[in-house]
Amino acid sequence: MKIAILTIGDELLNGDLADTNTAAIAKTLMDNALPVHEAATVGDLEGDISAALLRLAKTHDVVIATGGLGPTEDDRTSRAAARAFERPLSLNTKALEQIRARFRAWQRDMHPRNEKQALLPGRSVVICNEQGTAPGFHLKNNQTDLYFLPGVPTEMLAMLGGYVIPSLLERFPDPPSLCQRAVTVFGLAEPDVETRITRNGLPEGVELAFNVEVPIVQVKLRARGEHAQRLVDRAEMAVRQALDDHVVGIDGATLAGVTARLLSAAGITLALAESCTGGLIAKLLTDQPGSSAFLERSVVSYANSAKRDALHVTQELLDRHGAVSAECAEAMARGIYQAARTDIGLAVTGIAGPDGGSADKPVGTVYLAMTSRWGARNERFNFFGNRDQVRLRTACTALDWLRRMAMARLSGTEQDS
Ligand code: ATP
Ligand code: MG
Repeated sequence: MKIAILTIGDELLNGDLADTNTAAIAKTLMDNALPVHEAATVGDLEGDISAALLRLAKTHDVVIATGGLGPTEDDRTSRAAARAFERPLSLNTKALEQIRARFRAWQRDMHPRNEKQALLPGRSVVICNEQGTAPGFHLKNNQTDLYFLPGVPTEMLAMLGGYVIPSLLERFPDPPSLCQRAVTVFGLAEPDVETRITRNGLPEGVELAFNVEVPIVQVKLRARGEHAQRLVDRAEMAVRQALDDHVVGIDGATLAGVTARLLSAAGITLALAESCTGGLIAKLLTDQPGSSAFLERSVVSYANSAKRDALHVTQELLDRHGAVSAECAEAMARGIYQAARTDIGLAVTGIAGPDGGSADKPVGTVYLAMTSRWGARNERFNFFGNRDQVRLRTACTALDWLRRMAMARLSGTEQDS
């Protein structure tokens, strides 16, 4: 079975609007083990829409189109479908009644233009729109099912789930089962991840793909058929074995989310002193609900005066080693640890760029330091990338230190009990 998506609208082609409908439809279909074979986008010209519909209908069993069903002159999808499949538009009384009902529910008068939305290609089945005025429609041409949905994402998704998916599952009752899983990885570059996984080997029949969103690598595992679930389970185990504790989690796990959960679970409290990240570590952690359980404070100690006042870093240390130094990072971590009386004090200081680098401390030089009840840690990094990337890599590395610390405490506690 071959499924195509067609998104319609000039604004998708001129850069005004990002096409999120294609991704949202593809994801919903994938969740139902219905993979998409092709996706295309056309502008608002009736002839272009007709041509795209005809082409896709010839080569696919299913076409799902979105956009251009509104009441305005630039909404031409129904006319284009009528022309492509030689089904002249006619007033669909069921569609008209639905549009009227929508306006009654809103207690508004219906504009005569909205009647146009009830003009559908002959022999179409109306797809009810509970949220907006534009009804969708379903028509069959030869062996191809074509579904037409409005462009507004919420309306489109409601109709996809309410009508299109059930209709597809009726036509294809037993799609070959498909299982996929995404493994979130931190601290290894994509080639290293691939090398380690392939060296270790995956069960046969499992497809491997990568998705990088610096500094995170997502490893995608996919299998089809009767044993899909078991194969992916085994593949996940192999990936965990190959990548060890670089694996942060699966299926949507984020570094900040996992770190926050582990810190809470371990009952660890934390205070931060941030220089080059300007509060980004605290931002990422406080994005997580319940972060007040572990985060006591974060001080953005940007200037030397702030490092002196808030963290008791001495002027002598700053003069001798500079604000971007292992000594300063360590003093910042100790300062925040003592001020906040938390289990961990963590500090970062570095040069995010684009200016401020030197020969021995180029842009991307970052020092992380941690002082805790369980010992201290200090490390210099040379991150590459632009300002945003250096700051994000710094923040993620800090989160990873915390994640590993919390994991160690949790496994230590387990051993104790
Ligand atoms: P309406 O009744 O609102 O006119 P419509 O079916 O005619 O619905 P469009 O006019 O094509 O749909 O799009 C309406 C709005 O839906 C757009 O302004 C845009 O905000 C959103 N939209 C349309 N297509 C997409 C898409 N592919 N991805 C994301 N959003 C979209
Ligand atoms: Mg419109």
